[in-house]
Amino acid sequence: MDLRAGVSGHTRLAVVIGEPVRHSLSPAIHNAAFAALDMDWVFLACEVPEGGVPEALAGALALGIEGLSVTMPHKAAVAAAVDRLSGTASLLGAVNCVAREGRRLVGHSTDGDGFVDALGSEPGWSPTGARCVVFGAGGAGRAVVLALADAGAAEVAVVNRTTQHAEAAAALAGDRGRVAAAAETGRFDLVVNATPLGMTGRGGGALPLDPELLQPGQLLVDLVYEPAETVLLSAARERGVRAFNGVRMLVHQAARAFELWTGTEAPIEVMAAATTEALARR
Ligand code: NAP
Repeated sequence: MDLRAGVSGHTRLAVVIGEPVRHSLSPAIHNAAFAALDMDWVFLACEVPEGGVPEALAGALALGIEGLSVTMPHKAAVAAAVDRLSGTASLLGAVNCVAREGRRLVGHSTDGDGFVDALGSEPGWSPTGARCVVFGAGGAGRAVVLALADAGAAEVAVVNRTTQHAEAAAALAGDRGRVAAAAETGRFDLVVNATPLGMTGRGGGALPLDPELLQPGQLLVDLVYEPAETVLLSAARERGVRAFNGVRMLVHQAARAFELWTGTEAPIEVMAAATTEALARR
């Protein structure tokens, strides 16, 4: 695909900001979507150093950039700098997507909705009434806790190394949230790994929980997507547990962002294929 052939003075621009940002899958995902829908848009990656968010947002507004994805380490700084926050972004204090509304920048958080959309693609599975446990209470864990509660989960428990962080994350689920111990894992319908344990380069063989605690009939979602098959996923499947990795969430959170920027339904299958291809090229 030669994107340059179609670029003109009318081409609209969206970008991802972060540091580092060159590894980002967002350009591959969004440019594939624009191409599939024959939209005159391009998506680029812009490295913005820590502390550079106010300048970057002012520049984006001045240049008429249509939308921004936001990755580490800028999610909280962007939340503090935009003109308005969505309800979810405000509760999380974090933004992963900025949309332009005229002369105003609006911060959104699409990770949680992307996670629930990903669950929706699991046949016969719904978060409504489900008992859920989330390992990890960082940015991803907090987004997942809030989204599960919003989606009608009966219970959202949090297991985390730092208890104070677990308490803050569990509070996002109101009276359905609580801090749990890993030993309770077997009593939940849904088990989520929202820690980086198992990720390539971050202790690839490390496990966030003992797979012996998992029970057949549970659904396990590992938010890690590199490697595609973590040690946790393999161990879960060996125990008869349904399990999938973080690619579906990654694709669905991008789709939510795409729809906020363009007002056009995102081509999920195209975006999923582009993600898989980009990951395979690494
Ligand atoms: P984060 O904000 O840094 O939070 C990391 C969480 O993991 C914290 O709760 C931390 O515990 C815990 N943790 C870190 N190292 C640990 C260790 N050695 N032992 C036990 N707990 C540990 O990271 P994040 O942004 O939430 O990302 C978490 C994971 O989700 C990453 O693998 C990321 O790639 C993935 N993710 C995937 C998607 C997707 O679309 N699939 C989206 C976002 C994130 P403390 O509170 O004690 O520090």
